[in-house]
Amino acid sequence: MTNNNLFFETLNLLRYYNIRLGKKKGQHFIVNSSLLKREIEYSELTPSDTVLEIGAGLGALTLALAEKAKRVFAIEKDQNLLSVLKDKFSSFNNIEIISGDALKLEFPPVQKIVSNIPYSISSPLTFKILSSRYEKAILTYQLEFAERLIANPGSKNYGRITVGVYYKAEAKLLETIPRTAFYPPPKVESAIIMLKPKPPPFEILNEEVFFEVVRFLFMHPNKKAKHGIKSYIKNKKNKYFKFTKMESFPEIFEKRVRNLTPEEIKEIANILIALENS
Ligand code: SAH
Repeated sequence: MTNNNLFFETLNLLRYYNIRLGKKKGQHFIVNSSLLKREIEYSELTPSDTVLEIGAGLGALTLALAEKAKRVFAIEKDQNLLSVLKDKFSSFNNIEIISGDALKLEFPPVQKIVSNIPYSISSPLTFKILSSRYEKAILTYQLEFAERLIANPGSKNYGRITVGVYYKAEAKLLETIPRTAFYPPPKVESAIIMLKPKPPPFEILNEEVFFEVVRFLFMHPNKKAKHGIKSYIKNKKNKYFKFTKMESFPEIFEKRVRNLTPEEIKEIANILIALENS
């Protein structure tokens, strides 16, 4: 399927198009064809699938996706890379190159999302994917970030994004990837994560409030929950909505944020909703 000489092809393309890689742009191109093959296998593409790729780069993954799927939408922001992609895929009628910032564009409706993503936008991009419609996503992240997606409460990688993922998706780390699978090699290892939407694990009275509470709590993960709760209330600017309304402090408010399970955060959000409406 894909070129075994992906490494040389990548160097040649960069040279031919005279592309200089900016260190800050987070551009690391896949040069390992067996990894590419496994990403395609994990995606379980069928001929009826439409796929979204975010940050298509030089189009190695794009091509592999287009060989299996009905249609591929490939978003890329860099003008130089867009020229490469347009030349390379001009004769493909099932690849649509979308020029722009993946965080600002509206995603096209797709079944699958498969990407070696730009690491610099891992967090906002993940939240965007979580709230979009898809059936399965196969995404390559920096290993440390990938670990945040599947962390347990109390562990050092547990955070806002963990709770977001836990609420919206089934997440699995499929494999870790050595730095040399990409050119130029990134500073750290990468990992492939699979996301699949799932029904909410618990009932929350108001999703918006829940995610706001999560945001305020994790501004200070090492502090007690009551600090984050206070700033959440303060931010509300509802003068009737005060701590003093509470007869006694629920014990849960005394726990350190990083130790709260998503279910406990749900309890806190529900207490705040009840308080605000009382
Ligand atoms: N998927 C390719 C390239 C990965 S590098 C491969 O595996 O070889 C990440 C790519 O995302 C780069 O091409 C970079 O230019 C692009 N990119 C960075 N920020 C972006 C954004 N906000 N929107 C869309 N593409 C972006």
